[in-house]
Amino acid sequence: MKIHAIQTGTVALTMNWREGVGRGRRRLLHTLLDRRWTEPLPIYAFAIEHPEGVIVVDTGETSRISEPGYFPRWQPFFRFAVRERVEPEQEIGPQLARLGIERADTRWVVMTHLHTDHAGGLHHFEGNEILVSRTELPHASGLRGRLNGYPNKRWPAWFDPTLVDLPPEPFGPFPASLRLTEAGDVILVPAPGHSPGHVAVVVQDGDHSVFIAGDSSYTQDAMLRGIADGVGADDDAERVTHERIRMYAATTPTVYLPAHDPDTAARLDERRTVAVPELGARLPAGRPAQT
Ligand SMILES: [Zn+2]
Repeated sequence: MKIHAIQTGTVALTMNWREGVGRGRRRLLHTLLDRRWTEPLPIYAFAIEHPEGVIVVDTGETSRISEPGYFPRWQPFFRFAVRERVEPEQEIGPQLARLGIERADTRWVVMTHLHTDHAGGLHHFEGNEILVSRTELPHASGLRGRLNGYPNKRWPAWFDPTLVDLPPEPFGPFPASLRLTEAGDVILVPAPGHSPGHVAVVVQDGDHSVFIAGDSSYTQDAMLRGIADGVGADDDAERVTHERIRMYAATTPTVYLPAHDPDTAARLDERRTVAVPELGARLPAGRPAQT
């Protein structure tokens, strides 16, 4: 199946944002006070050319971020801990057009979560069905959402997503899942932590899976080491998500694609799968380790 990684500009973060320091809410302070920056990291959205229609996963960021006042001035994270850069032609709309994908070709837009660098391109999808987890939307909406760091006044006026529940149908180590396609080969799984309603998208493609991770972790390495980020809603939940991803990747060859990992595009191109170390120690008792 053809899958495109579409880079919609870059984002630099403080180092303690990418890999959190400390536990619980203290991580936020470490993230804000850190003066060390990552290099500009990619902001990826994805387009899956599926026989049932194109499935877009996340919409990337908008070039409007450089307009003065786009982000609320009182929000400390946008002022002190993140620097984004997006040119108009880097937005997802023009990039899909260059790939020959029309808006009418898109069957679904799946949002892993609603942070600005995933939701900034929503305005390119008026009239498309947009799927958001039922847990994520209230966390991101209204005043509560703005306090949680979602600049939701920038969402298009028409934004009215289809709310998605993941039924308690286990998929490998994931306790719930939703098969999106008739063919059953594109599956939404819960990946909470970075945000409460965060979902990931698993594409079963022949002998391997492509795991579109959103911000389940910022890098493959952080997922393998179980290092939660420095801004997420629940770092304990994020580490459980990492463990489930490791267990999945240990039993199914998996190409792991975080939205901000500099290696994501090359990994997708080469269909390079994750090598999970120290598996035996992490599996529940009684389950044989895979060699
Ligand atoms: Zn995020």
